[in-house]
Amino acid sequence: TVELRNVTKSYGELQVVHGVDLQIDPGEFVVFVGPSGSGKSTLLRMVAGLEEITGGDLMIDGGKVNHIAPYERGIAMVFQSYALYPHMTVYKNLAFGLETAKMSKEEIKRRVREAAEILQIEPLLARKPRQRVEIAKLHKRLGNTTIYVTHDQVEAMTMAHKIVVLNNGRIEQVGSPLDLYNRPCNRFVAGFIGSPK
Ligand code: ATP
Repeated sequence: TVELRNVTKSYGELQVVHGVDLQIDPGEFVVFVGPSGSGKSTLLRMVAGLEEITGGDLMIDGGKVNHIAPYERGIAMVFQSYALYPHMTVYKNLAFGLETAKMSKEEIKRRVREAAEILQIEPLLARKPRQRVEIAKLHKRLGNTTIYVTHDQVEAMTMAHKIVVLNNGRIEQVGSPLDLYNRPCNRFVAGFIGSPK
């Protein structure tokens, strides 16, 4: 279980996440949606430990992880696909950067395997990076808890157990795709998820 308790984030004077409370149950596929700048990536990065939270508590399996390093949280982060070459395998994509750094083949292999193990993506190394599909397949197979960020409402509706609608660093509504579609709590959610209110 991943739990956010009144989590806030400020960059200097600028507060970008305001008191977010959220519970993510084991095995859940949660999708964050919301306009650009609403705080989706910031929240995701805070859960993964790539960004410090500036207020509140972040709990994983009942333990406070506010200051726990990313690799000790048992959380993997898969970045957006724009940085990957679709015609190369995932292994090649990871190795590519190291090749340009003039590293030996053995060293490259060792580093890529190590990174893949940490990220828990070893089964994907031989595949090409069709991330969206792979994330969904991996989730089906392993039943791992997943937080996914997208601008695509159709994708959110089809993939999510739970959708979190964000706006200006606050949660507008959390619910199943059907909940949000049938019972949006305000115009913003209705506008975002589809059904008029
Ligand atoms: P997008 O859909 O465009 O990726 P998002 O919903 O993921 O947007 P965030 O990237 O989390 O939004 O950004 C939330 C707010 O925090 C934005 O106003 C952004 O400008 C601000 N922000 C993000 N990173 C920093 C930073 N390092 N320093 C200052 N402000 C930041």
